Amino acid sequence: MEKSTTVFTRHLGARKRIAMIAHDHKKSDLIEWALHNKEQLQKHQLFATGTTGRLLEEALDMRVTQFLSGPLGGDQQIGAKIAEGMIDAVVFFWDPMEALPHDPDIKALLRLAATWNIPTACNRATADFMMTSPLMREEYEVLLTDYTNYLTRKV
Ligand code: PGA
Repeated sequence: MEKSTTVFTRHLGARKRIAMIAHDHKKSDLIEWALHNKEQLQKHQLFATGTTGRLLEEALDMRVTQFLSGPLGGDQQIGAKIAEGMIDAVVFFWDPMEALPHDPDIKALLRLAATWNIPTACNRATADFMMTSPLMREEYEVLLTDYTNYLTRKV
């Protein structure tokens, strides 16, 4: 007999909900990248941690939903939105050359992005590949890990 398998997916619309975060030494990099991709980004809905969001909104002249500043809880707010299925992609230019006080929050955000199979660009080259993918302009079914065994485990 054939084993029945349930496939878990999340549907992404053509208009993506993109969360953007940049650490202080990476902010100019992100703004420059965003300006370069302004036309594409305007087709999507943008979210960001506080300071990054303010800079993006000024540079792009478009609405960016702003959470708290990263170290004050913004990374965790974005992580929560990922878990709720409200974010489709992440562009996170984190700084590999600086230890930051909110390192646990950064890890938590990246962990949730991996948990929910969120396309995550952590540097400019990956962001370029992501932005130029035809999938950014199409609907898409994200395959999710089946967590049923975990959820129904004996405790
Ligand atoms: P910020 O937060 O955009 O408020 O600077 C970014 C971060 O450090 O996580």
